[in-house]
Amino acid sequence: MRLNRALARAGVASRRAADELILAGRVSVNGHVVRELGSLVSPDDRILCDGKPALAQRFIYLAMNKPVGVVTTLSDPEGRRTIVDLLPRDLPRVVPAGRLDYDTSGLLLLSNDGDLIHRLLHPRFGVEKTYRATIRGELSGEQIEELRAGVRTPSFRAAGAKLRIVSSASLRSLVDLTIHEGRNRQVREMFAALGHPVIELRRIRFGPIELGSLVGGRVRPLSPREIAELLRATSPPSEAGARVVASRE
Ligand code: URA
Repeated sequence: MRLNRALARAGVASRRAADELILAGRVSVNGHVVRELGSLVSPDDRILCDGKPALAQRFIYLAMNKPVGVVTTLSDPEGRRTIVDLLPRDLPRVVPAGRLDYDTSGLLLLSNDGDLIHRLLHPRFGVEKTYRATIRGELSGEQIEELRAGVRTPSFRAAGAKLRIVSSASLRSLVDLTIHEGRNRQVREMFAALGHPVIELRRIRFGPIELGSLVGGRVRPLSPREIAELLRATSPPSEAGARVVASRE
């Protein structure tokens, strides 16, 4: 990742302020002062600012299986159950990456790593989310093509989606739909626009993270490997797996 991001993640300064520190020659990587903005570092590099180690803050990364009937907010004026009611009591404050509707269940990622949350939701990174939708009726071949090309709903034109028919019958069908946008009630609107209202909706994947067998209402920490995959999925290609190019004094 970029050096300024690493400094921001360590809580040393905002990314912009970190650039100032770098330009001022106050930052070293593996014993060498680095003055180039955009220098890249890896987790093994030893970063010092004013001679003090820039250590990673304690970040928390969680996966929750949000049940239907819970709001994805930290408090609810109407007194409904919120995701906070499902979190362990002694946690630092975490925020969800986006939201799921009250009547949608499935995978919600939560963290106190604001930079990562921002990237997970930013269109620039196009992080994919997969939803398993139970819809009324069967999709025709034409409708499948429409979803793949980009369906038009009354409120937006969706980008092309990936689609997998899990089962199909005249009464109801199961479809895995993968999108990289995050509009309000997007999946429901996309199917409704084709005349196949959603009966049930569950998010089963967010980027590289799978819902798997996590029980409804339960929360689990992401593994170090999953965290690394998430960080990779939200890094520009030029930063992925890169190491520092440090200038010598
Ligand atoms: N699309 C929807 O329609 N609802 C959700 O909760 C998420 C995506």
